[in-house]
Amino acid sequence: MDGSVVLRGLTKIYGQGSQARVVLDSVQATFVAGEVIAVRGRSGSGKSTLLNLLAGLDTPSAGEVVIDGVSLHALSERERTSFRRDRIGIVFQFFNLIPTLTVLENVVLPAELAGTDFAQSQSMGRELLEEVGLADRAREFPDRLSGGEQQRIAIARALVCQPELVLADEPTGNLDRATGEDVLALLDRMTRARGRTLVLVTHSHPIAAVADRILTIEEGKLIPARAAESDRAAERSQA
Ligand code: ADP
Ligand code: MG
Repeated sequence: MDGSVVLRGLTKIYGQGSQARVVLDSVQATFVAGEVIAVRGRSGSGKSTLLNLLAGLDTPSAGEVVIDGVSLHALSERERTSFRRDRIGIVFQFFNLIPTLTVLENVVLPAELAGTDFAQSQSMGRELLEEVGLADRAREFPDRLSGGEQQRIAIARALVCQPELVLADEPTGNLDRATGEDVLALLDRMTRARGRTLVLVTHSHPIAAVADRILTIEEGKLIPARAAESDRAAERSQA
């Protein structure tokens, strides 16, 4: 129960025969519990495919994703759904808040689905809203909030079940630069404070620099980003 991730021979091929496209080609990687990993790569390189496999939302063509010693795709569909719900927090580019639920209801929904009792879910939800600076918006509906505020709500929702692993796919892709940097700093701070593993897809250089490691997807392989970028991350972590 620590958020370590091992990718073994992880392969994803779309299409068949002459149409086959190898998006991930026998990817090997280990993310240590508590690490913040930034994943980069050009559009179409397979970043979302990788995150969807990590989330158990998609099935590999070969290889495995092992989270805390559990091989995700060896689980039944039902087991995998509850594993994801209870142990993985996901932040999306387009927030994906439910418009008919209030801010607080959105945040507590995963806890309620996981069977946490009402009073406890409410108090965790309120604490998280406090932490993301939006406690006073609890009873409003998401469409009244700015993009940056909606993403803060989504971060609170992603953390309400105290997941070991947090995944974020271009969480600032829909925000202006300054707002995006604030949101990323918040996500980084909140996952580190909890000792959780964060795997973050992002294009922004200053944002990737908060990471412990920067990896890039090139030709189906997940490799360390070019030296210059990694050096910057190393300098940060020593500072
Ligand atoms: P990224 O997130 O890095 O932009 P994606 O992981 O979304 O890239 O996509 C990687 C490649 O896989 C792209 O060429 C995309 O067109 C292809 N792809 C993604 N999903 C599917 C799918 N369901 N069926 C066929 N091809 C897909
Ligand atoms: Mg993508």
